[in-house]
Amino acid sequence: APPPGRARRVVLKLSGEVFGGGRVGVDPDVVQAVARQIATVVRRGVQVSVVIGGGNFFRGAELQKRGMDRARADYMGMLGTVMNCLALQDFLEKEGIETRVQTAITMAQVAEPYIPLRAIRHLEKGRVVIFGAGAGMPYFSTDTVAAQRALEIRADVVLMSKNGVDAVYTADPRTDPGARRLETVTFAEALSRGLRVADAAAFSLCMENGLPMLVFGAEGRTPSSGRSVASGSGP
Ligand code: UDP
Repeated sequence: APPPGRARRVVLKLSGEVFGGGRVGVDPDVVQAVARQIATVVRRGVQVSVVIGGGNFFRGAELQKRGMDRARADYMGMLGTVMNCLALQDFLEKEGIETRVQTAITMAQVAEPYIPLRAIRHLEKGRVVIFGAGAGMPYFSTDTVAAQRALEIRADVVLMSKNGVDAVYTADPRTDPGARRLETVTFAEALSRGLRVADAAAFSLCMENGLPMLVFGAEGRTPSSGRSVASGSGP
C-alpha cells in the first residue's frame, strides 16, 4: 500500500452517533459538515467510499436486552444505516459530488445492490460510494464491514471516526478519565488489550490482511504499516 498520507483509495467508517449529533435521528448540520469535508478530499483526487453505522437509530444488541429477537433487531439496525447513507448522499450531491449508495440488503428503489466491481468503477470515475445495510447479516457490525469492504475494493486504509473519540486509547476516554492515548498499536495488541475503538472482528480482518487502520479526530499522524492501528488526522 502507498504511504497513507498519499492514500489513493480509502474506506471511511462513520459511526451512526456522528450523524445523530448525539441524539436519535439525523442532524442535517452535522451531515452537511461531514459531506463538505469528504468533498474536499474527493476534489483532491482521493477515491472515497464510506461505511456508515446505525447507532443513532438502533443497535441490535441493545434491543435484544430489551427483549427483542436479536436477528430481527439487527435487521432494524441495518435498515437504520441506510437512512444515514441517504442523508450523506443528499449533502454530497449538494456539494456537487456524484455518489452511489450500495446496500447489502437489496432495495432497488433506493440504492444499488452491493457489487464490488461496480463500486470500484464508480470510485475510478470520482464518485463517492456509500455502503449501506452493513454486511446484510445479523451479528455483524459496520466496523467489520468497513474492513471487509476495504479489502474487497482494495482500499489503502480504513479511516475510523467515532463520536467523541479522536484517537486510540487504552480505555474509553468518554467514560474513563485514566484513558491514555496510544499513537500506534498493533492489531494483536489491540485485540489482547480488548481495545474497543473497533470491534475484534474488524481488527482481525485488518491484521490478517495487512490493512492499516487510522482512528482520527482533529490532529495527529498517519499510520505507517499494515500491522497497526494508528491515531491520527483524516486523509
Ligand atoms: N448490523 C448488523 N450487521 C451488520 C451491520 C450492522 O446486524 O453487518 C446491525 C447491528 O444491530 C448494529 C446496527 O446494525 O448494532 C448498527 O450498526 P453499528 O452498531 O455497527 O453502528 P455504529 O455503532 O457504527 O453506529
